[in-house]
Amino acid sequence: MTRILAVETHDIRFPTSRHLDGSDAMNPDPDYSAAYVILRTDTGVDGHGLTFTIGRGNEVCRAAIDALAPFVVGQSVDDLGEFARRLTHDSQLRWLGPEKGVIHLASAAVINAAWDLAAKLAGKPVWQLLAQMTPQQLVDLVDWRYLTDALTPQEALDLLTAAEPGRERRTAHLLGHGYPAYTTSPGWLGYEDDKLVRLAREAVADGYTQIKLKVGADLADDVRRLGLARAAVGPDIRIAVDANQRWDVAEAIRWTSALAPHDPWWIEEPTSPDDVLGHAAIRRALAGEAPGTRRIRVATGEHVQNRIVFKQLMQAEALDFVQLDACRVGGVNENVAILLLAAKFGLPVCPHAGGVGLCELVQHLSMFDYVAVSGSLDDRVIEYVDHLHEHFVHPVEVIGGAYQAPTAPGFSAEMHPLTLKRFAYPDGAEWA
Ligand SMILES: [Mg+2]
Repeated sequence: MTRILAVETHDIRFPTSRHLDGSDAMNPDPDYSAAYVILRTDTGVDGHGLTFTIGRGNEVCRAAIDALAPFVVGQSVDDLGEFARRLTHDSQLRWLGPEKGVIHLASAAVINAAWDLAAKLAGKPVWQLLAQMTPQQLVDLVDWRYLTDALTPQEALDLLTAAEPGRERRTAHLLGHGYPAYTTSPGWLGYEDDKLVRLAREAVADGYTQIKLKVGADLADDVRRLGLARAAVGPDIRIAVDANQRWDVAEAIRWTSALAPHDPWWIEEPTSPDDVLGHAAIRRALAGEAPGTRRIRVATGEHVQNRIVFKQLMQAEALDFVQLDACRVGGVNENVAILLLAAKFGLPVCPHAGGVGLCELVQHLSMFDYVAVSGSLDDRVIEYVDHLHEHFVHPVEVIGGAYQAPTAPGFSAEMHPLTLKRFAYPDGAEWA
């Protein structure tokens, strides 16, 4: 049995703010960063994981990962349900935020590293490791506390069992065709109009059927930019818009309604990620039921802190698209719970990605969802941003607007040793 001997942590930051890559209405100058963890073992196979931040505070995440190390050293990854619960149930650490905040980001990094290790030991990519588990093994990964009023373990078992027959066919489809992506690259708020139009046209030429624009800083600018993008891509390409939590509820409704003539596909993060009832009110107002209005769907999730808030968003009919994030909630295990909830409520999962490493990790969750949980690709797309992939040993591959299924064992989270050195904050060559 492979045992974890040590937990090594790194504060890795990329100076992305120099070119306004990643800029939006709430985060005008992000330096994409990773609190990065390596689980060193007695057999020489290491597990790599990370959680994503946008710069300042990355050192706080790293310190939180260090605080989790005593719960990991000496352990194996043979029972990943138990492994995850050990990290999220500690009676003292739990006071820092029961499954939320920095300590939860830290548990995500460690749990994801454990999955990388387990998948490497099994010789499979994580999506396939998950997709080949039995329904009961998958149910046992989930922490069912606080979920059973919406979804019971037995319902999850039934749902997974019902999806079992098509697993092989869907795996073959995935290996042959990949998983649909959409791109956010044209729409960063800091980009000039001509760059937006050029990148939007390029995205369509590259095979994307959906793009996304950041909105929420200035209404007149947003109407103009969305109009330019719509003219550039034509009526058949979906254009999502993303406000990054900028608005109060009434403002979200007013602002998004003003964009309606250019037919946005969804409004993402219109308000606080904690405001379940606010999202429900926005969704009702944008349902397109009044004469002369059209429906604009509501998407959220990248800052939703745990499975319980996702549960409430679904129970309150507050969203149309579930945007889980590989590194915010408690890693693979809690995301399995969220995928099961989404399947129960019949909602498509369109994961958040783009930040460093998020594309690499989250593709595994969507592919597992397609093979073994929802069994569907309808209205499902994974976010894609074309930067920083060169730092990974097994970077994502997007061809013709589709993520190609990874085949290398692990979670695709491992960065090159030179990257860990050069972008180390504050002493690496890039920062010193
Ligand atoms: Mg977003």
